[in-house]
Amino acid sequence: MPFESACEHVVALCLELSRRGYFAGTGGNLMLRIDAEHVAVTPSATDYAEMRPADVAVLRLRDLARVAGERPASVETSLHARVLRARPEVGCSIHTHQPVASACALLGRPLTVAPRWRASLGDCVPLVGYAPSGSAWLAARLGAALRPHLNAYLMRNHGILCCGPDSAAALQAVDDLEALAREHLAERIAEQVRAGRQPQLQRVMDALLASAQPDTPDQAFAAPPPQAHV
Ligand SMILES: [Zn+2]
Repeated sequence: MPFESACEHVVALCLELSRRGYFAGTGGNLMLRIDAEHVAVTPSATDYAEMRPADVAVLRLRDLARVAGERPASVETSLHARVLRARPEVGCSIHTHQPVASACALLGRPLTVAPRWRASLGDCVPLVGYAPSGSAWLAARLGAALRPHLNAYLMRNHGILCCGPDSAAALQAVDDLEALAREHLAERIAEQVRAGRQPQLQRVMDALLASAQPDTPDQAFAAPPPQAHV
């Protein structure tokens, strides 16, 4: 099978994103750069727990023509392609509906990044205005918000997109964005509780802080993605 190792890597990455609670069922998708011409994309409407390497779509980045894979590519293919075309240094783009950062996307404000997360995220997380899932409008809105050195984006009322030079860096950005979002929401809730406006929010904050994941990262994703068979 052509591009087999890249497709296997996409499957492993999706399983890891599911294990960490960022992908759920068929929700979430990603694009991995294979070489100067090709990318691997998660298939549309496929449960990641059952996905096989042969289900992964391999496309030409230039025109998104499919060159391998048994299933159609994700509906968000043009969203990821926008990122990989605009930023040649990006090797992996991940879109999730991860719970805490997606809640921040509902608040409708960009986030300032604390110094400890700037290496992976950059110094702020822009807010991309709402557009329907899978639409060219959403891809255009993200494209307009893209900046060099900013690797995380909130998509209003929808979810997030993170990217990085390889899959390990993109996964780290997903992790760091969730931690940043958790801290941001906890601060907003604490302000409300201190002001005596909504004391019941203390329980929400306790649940939020308890949801921080203690899992150690899977070391398999500390390595760069494998090179493709061409
Ligand atoms: Zn989505």
